[in-house]
Amino acid sequence: MIPFNKPFLSGKETEYITQAVGSGKISGDGQFTKKCHQFFEQKYGFQKCLLTTSCTDALEMAAILIDIREGDEVIVPSFTFVSTVNAFVLRGAKIVFADSEEGFPNIDVSKLEALITPKTKAIVPVHYAGVACDMDRIMEIADKHGLYVIEDAAQAIDSFYNGKPLGGIGHLAAFSFHETKNIISGEGGMLVINDKKFNDRAEIIREKGTNRSKFFRGEVDKYGWVDIGSSFLPSDIIAAFLYAQLENLDMIQEKRKAIWNRYNDNLKQLEASKKLALPKVCKEGTNNAHMFFIVTEDIATRSALIDFLKKNEILPVFHYLSLHKSPFYQSKHDGRELPYSDKYTECLLRLPFYYELSLEQVDHISHLIVQFYNERKG
Ligand SMILES: *Cc1c(COP(=O)(O)O)cnc(C)c1O
Repeated sequence: MIPFNKPFLSGKETEYITQAVGSGKISGDGQFTKKCHQFFEQKYGFQKCLLTTSCTDALEMAAILIDIREGDEVIVPSFTFVSTVNAFVLRGAKIVFADSEEGFPNIDVSKLEALITPKTKAIVPVHYAGVACDMDRIMEIADKHGLYVIEDAAQAIDSFYNGKPLGGIGHLAAFSFHETKNIISGEGGMLVINDKKFNDRAEIIREKGTNRSKFFRGEVDKYGWVDIGSSFLPSDIIAAFLYAQLENLDMIQEKRKAIWNRYNDNLKQLEASKKLALPKVCKEGTNNAHMFFIVTEDIATRSALIDFLKKNEILPVFHYLSLHKSPFYQSKHDGRELPYSDKYTECLLRLPFYYELSLEQVDHISHLIVQFYNERKG
């Protein structure tokens, strides 16, 4: 069976974990956490980074930082992971769901302004498959209406928009190091702070509402409870694993791009004959090879293709179910139809994608997809 995902150990993960344990300090903000923060701040020029235990946690921190209150409205694509939305619902926000673009699952920026009301507080673009949303336009709209932009950059490590790293454009951004992402630590995430005014409070919220980080830096002589907060920081054992991955980021990315390009080359003939659609990288963006997906013409074709590939020992996986139709939120949704979110719910199919997938396996999977469409025609 070719699985959908397989976590990759790049080399020194267990060695660094042993070092962390040997150092005698394995709680949060130890030596490896600092190394990870420095890595991101130096490589991508992020103003301030804080590791968290998940991207979900980083999003929850963002919602607290921008002071989301009961009744505030937050604009989020419907075609996304629950955490993008849950973080704001937890603070009492009303979610205003946006549709995807016709040609790509990212938020349709052309329809964004129509969703803004005097209660709108934030826009949360999700860089689906690591492909940039139209950030210039989103920041322009946000500035005009005085809104915050929180980038859900869970899938967007090492991806760029007009030369700027994703996660470095909105006021705040959240990354994920869940085992299904490009760079992993099992569970793990990071908050990126691009607007300096959040620096101090972010440290406090992450440390249970205390000014403990300031205390450890010797900036105050005792620490205490100064704000709301929770425990959002990961153990240094997690950071040790993550740092080993970061050291091999370029190698990991190179291999992933080779896999992505091979799928694309193998399947573009099917796209040319209009049998399916392939992912597109916008002209302002780069490809970080997070995911390779196809979009079938309808759900029946997708189901048949899933069955066919499973019979051939390959495990493709569909993705999000429109959140505006979810059991939890549909009764709270304002009733607008979001046809492209529904289209990706029904027709998008992700193909196996992981570091150790060989190009021969990519060819094998691709040939089977071509065979499926040839047989269907006849
Ligand atoms: C993976 C993912 C998340 C959640 O990440 P965790 O680290 O598992 O909390 C959130 N948003 C998007 C778009 C994701 O792909």
